[in-house]
Amino acid sequence: MSLFETEAIVLNGIRLGEADKLVTLLTAKKGKVKAVANGARRPRSRFGAALEPFTHCNVILFEKKPTILMRMNQADILQPFMKIREDLDRINAAARMVQIVSALLPEGEANPEIFSLLRTGLGEVEKRDRLEWLVRAFEIRCLKHAGYQARLDRCLICHREIDSIRVYFSPMNGGTLCGSCARTIRDPLEPVSPGTVSLLRLVGRMNWSGLFRLKATPRMLQEVKSVMDAHFTFILGRPL
Ligand SMILES: [Zn+2]
Repeated sequence: MSLFETEAIVLNGIRLGEADKLVTLLTAKKGKVKAVANGARRPRSRFGAALEPFTHCNVILFEKKPTILMRMNQADILQPFMKIREDLDRINAAARMVQIVSALLPEGEANPEIFSLLRTGLGEVEKRDRLEWLVRAFEIRCLKHAGYQARLDRCLICHREIDSIRVYFSPMNGGTLCGSCARTIRDPLEPVSPGTVSLLRLVGRMNWSGLFRLKATPRMLQEVKSVMDAHFTFILGRPL
């Protein structure tokens, strides 16, 4: 039995019984967890708006046994991310981030890099306009921190540097293939331009301000989306 305090971001919440809520949180200390907030749907609940999706809060959780759902004792808002809720495009961008984190992370494993990425990512959703680019960059970084970083500097088979016009991304192997090697395998492949490969490489290395100085053409954005969708589908065993 233990009581612990941690920073958390609300991933989602569902109704439970008459007045309770079952909340999925990404916590700094224990990764993704589910907790029951008793009375959270009552009009004057002590949780107030702290359990709305995307809210960054400080929570006190009670864990009786690892096999029993945790109970939430207290939740205090640190950052409400109110501006996200005022705009449908921002809600969609934030929802995609939360969905990716929920799908990729197992329960109960702390991942401080992804916690920090989601917290800063939601802050960027509030203030940036290039939301599609922001979401793609978030996806690339999230995969990296979850242990699925794509290999993009060389061909996965012949190990030559990727510099040709024809480059392919292999979702099954998580990296690039040169045109000659791509012809030798039967796995599904995504064609990508060398410019898109360079962009994908840069995203893993730059800070947010740097990322928003990068220019991506609509074609590059579409290629990045196709690559990421195919990679997620392979990793998760289903489309996101
Ligand atoms: Zn090759």
